[in-house]
Amino acid sequence: MDDLFLKIIQGEIPSEKIYEDDKTFAFLDINPNNPGHTLVVPKKYSRNILDIAEEDWIALMETVHKLAPSVKDAVGATGVNIYMNNESSAFQEVFHTHVHIIPRHDNDGYRPWSGTPYQEGEMEKIGETIRARIV
Ligand code: 5GP
Repeated sequence: MDDLFLKIIQGEIPSEKIYEDDKTFAFLDINPNNPGHTLVVPKKYSRNILDIAEEDWIALMETVHKLAPSVKDAVGATGVNIYMNNESSAFQEVFHTHVHIIPRHDNDGYRPWSGTPYQEGEMEKIGETIRARIV
């Protein structure tokens, strides 16, 4: 399998590295939403949130938590989005688990997604269906 982010972790493809520990690696996104946009990846391969092992996910979140304030402050941002795409339908393009840290500025032009209210009774039905599947 051609794993682009593994090649970045291993230095086969150059990146602007931000941080590394035994389980995670972070580097600047090559096509940032805003300057400082950082990707945090687990060193152990998983495809996305749907198959990552719990311990790898916890390590990933610890690194996101560690880096987010530095990413934000380094570019004088006023906020930060923590963002993740999982599968093509959710805009995932690189299939090695990664979390985006995106610095945000007042009036930087990005707008939140709009929502659609539930129909009568629909929310309770979906809530029950989700609860029944939790393992
Ligand atoms: P996704 O849509 O899968 O959540 O995001 C993949 C991200 O990887 C994109 O934001 C894209 O700009 C970034 N990316 C793709 N190829 C490279 C690369 O070769 N180097 C770096 N640093 N980022 C990349």
